[in-house]
Formats: sequence, C-alpha cells, structure tokens
Amino acid sequence: MPRGVDQRHAMDSSALRMNMVKKLAVLGLRDTQVLQAMGSVERHRFVDSALVNQAYEDTSLPIGLGQTISKPGVVARMAELLRNGAHGKLGRVLEIGTGCGYQAAVLSFLAGEVYSIERLRGLHDRARDNLRHLRLANVHLLFGDGMAGFAKGAPYAAIIAAAGGEAVPKAWVDQLAMGGRLVAPVVSAGGASGQQALVVIDKTRGGLVQTILESVHFVPLKSGVA
Ligand code: SAH
Repeated sequence: MPRGVDQRHAMDSSALRMNMVKKLAVLGLRDTQVLQAMGSVERHRFVDSALVNQAYEDTSLPIGLGQTISKPGVVARMAELLRNGAHGKLGRVLEIGTGCGYQAAVLSFLAGEVYSIERLRGLHDRARDNLRHLRLANVHLLFGDGMAGFAKGAPYAAIIAAAGGEAVPKAWVDQLAMGGRLVAPVVSAGGASGQQALVVIDKTRGGLVQTILESVHFVPLKSGVA
C-alpha cells in the first residue's frame, strides 16, 4: 500500500534530523542525552512554512518580530554546558527568551520542569501554538520580562538565556540553586562594540565561578514587555 504524504514527510524529516545530529557530533557535541533530544524535536514545525527546507541546516532563522530561532549547534552546545555531564535529568530549568519555543521543547527532554519566559506577546502566543501538539506537560510558558527571572519557580538547577545583555542580571544568579549552572550570552566588556561571548556561571559553596567561552551572536536582551 502506498504511504500517505504525511507519513512520507514525517520520514523525510526524521532522516534530516538524524543527519543534523551526525553533524552536531562532528562539531564536537558528545552528550548523548542532548543529541537524542535534538533528534527528537521537529525543528521544521517551529519555523515559517517558507523556511521549512532550511530547518535542519545549522543556521539561525527569522521567527518574526525581529527575533531568530538559534542555530541547532548553539542550542545543543548550550544544553550540553547546562547538563555539565550529569547522569540523570536536570531539575527545574529557567529559559529567558522563549522565542518560537524550539529550545524549550529540547530542554523538556533534559529537565524535570522547564519555565520559559518571553517579553513579546506575539512570540509567547506563537510558542504556545507551536508546542500545543507536542503536549509537553513539563513546559511552562510565561509572558513577562525575564530580566527579573521567575522567582516563583526558583531555585533552578539551571538557567539559560537566549538573548544577550550587558551583564547577567542579579535576579538570575539569586534564583540559581546551590550547585546550579547558568549559561548566557553576554556583551563582552572592552570587546568590539556589541560583541558577545558565552558565559557560564557555577554557583558553588565557595562562591560564583565564572567562565567565559567562545564568541556568539544572539538578539539583544531587552527590558519590559511589548
Ligand atoms: N530559544 C528561542 C530563541 C529566541 S530568540 C527559540 O528556540 O526560538 C531570543 C528571545 O528572547 C526573543 O524572542 C526575545 O524577544 C526574547 N527576549 C529578549 N529579552 C527578553 C527579556 N528580558 N525577557 C524575556 N524574553 C526576552
């Protein structure tokens, strides 16, 4: 019996995802839980129909309102940093910048609970639509200014930002659990104007330990809602 078109598309996209995961491994990503999550989430469902054929390339894509869905390589890299080689799942995770909801879906495979906050109403609504069919009971979408974090869900095992500011807001560090890890793009001090680097902050009994990693390019972290 001939396969239905829908089923054929589903098969095509799973082959494309496996190919994307292979490329992520070549880029140096090793965490099998992260690679499995990247292989599970259908990225093409989070972008405009006109961009579907680029959904599995390692590129950021526009998602409306001047924002972008991050490159798969960057989503996987940040997730790997967040997990930091943990054996099981992370506990509660806070994501700042829901955007289209793609990264929240990836994180839902890696964490007990995902709280994801977005300051643009249009994208918050779009993420809700995009995620509805996945029925991810552990993803909680919030509309608001993520600069203040989300105190009600604290403390978090991990905090991840998908937008880069001049500094890491104090509220995020305060809401991080002891032993927790924060990963965020931050505009590098003294660097070329607007240049961002990935920053990791570990909250340890001995204090905060900050590590500055490779340069990255994220949309700006903005305050207030719109
Ligand atoms: N993780 C997203 C990437 C979205 S881009 C995805 O998978 O699609 C980053 C998002 O951060 C944008 O939607 C932007 O509106 C949002 N953002 C910027 N500043 C913010 C803030 N203070 N609070 C919440 N969201 C913010």
